Amino acid sequence: MILIKNSQTFNALIKEKKAKNLKIGFVPTMGALHAGHLSLIKSARQKCDIVVCSIFVNPTQFNVASDLTNYPRPIEKDIQLLVHEGCDILFHPEVDEIYGNGLVKDSSSDFGSFIHLLEGASRPGHFDGVITIVKKLFQLCEPKEVFFGQKDYQQCLVVETLIQRNFPNIVFNLCPILREEDGLAMSSRNIRLSAEERKISYKIYKELKNLKDNWQTQQWEIALKNAKHILNEAPFKLEYLSVCNAKTFDSIDNFEENAIALVAVQLGNTRLIDNILL
Ligand code: AMP
Repeated sequence: MILIKNSQTFNALIKEKKAKNLKIGFVPTMGALHAGHLSLIKSARQKCDIVVCSIFVNPTQFNVASDLTNYPRPIEKDIQLLVHEGCDILFHPEVDEIYGNGLVKDSSSDFGSFIHLLEGASRPGHFDGVITIVKKLFQLCEPKEVFFGQKDYQQCLVVETLIQRNFPNIVFNLCPILREEDGLAMSSRNIRLSAEERKISYKIYKELKNLKDNWQTQQWEIALKNAKHILNEAPFKLEYLSVCNAKTFDSIDNFEENAIALVAVQLGNTRLIDNILL
């Protein structure tokens, strides 16, 4: 695997590969890699000639300073995992390499009303930061296909919108959520959970699953009410649990085909998100 920290060197290597007609698959991450990230690398490996991963903890998408400072950065271990998975190129720039030349932060305000809901409402400025970095990385990496996890479902909609507008030739791949045995969605933040919190964190997926199981019956509104109650009992603090249209995020009163449940909770000091297509 080739490790590159410099943007120009990175783009020059990409151009070299593209000149040979090699198909570039790209997996952007913030590192602290787990099996969920690696499943994206595997998908890219299956569909593309050259697999590129980026590890960049993007400061502009964090709206809480301590979250950025405490974000895990086990780069040596990440490199080993990527080598093992057969990744070809790792782009791992410093913050100055990306933002040093006065990169102007993009605005997501006209991306459609869905962007202002849920994560958009809970984390002001978050999607502006996401768009800024994803756009920059796409420009440098010039991928044919990109791979994102359903775990960050709203982010996937944002990136799909960005692709439609700015990168119409990129193929977007939505990859399934990998979970721990008890159902907890894998996340780089899970290591911050205390043993006690980790033990009860299965409840998040259990409630989502229960909603899905009741979705086609009259019982789903009761399931939703129960879930909201359970996920707001200490040490859980519910930020949102929304059942909505999976494309527009319009709220749903009655059964409909294209629906999703999305949740964000604080468990102690850790913020966790998850979702399920209904
Ligand atoms: P992150 O490093 O958290 O920015 O995530 C990088 C990519 O990995 C994003 O596309 C995430 O949606 C995806 N991802 C994170 N957790 C999981 C998971 N449990 N299963 C599948 N993909 C995931």
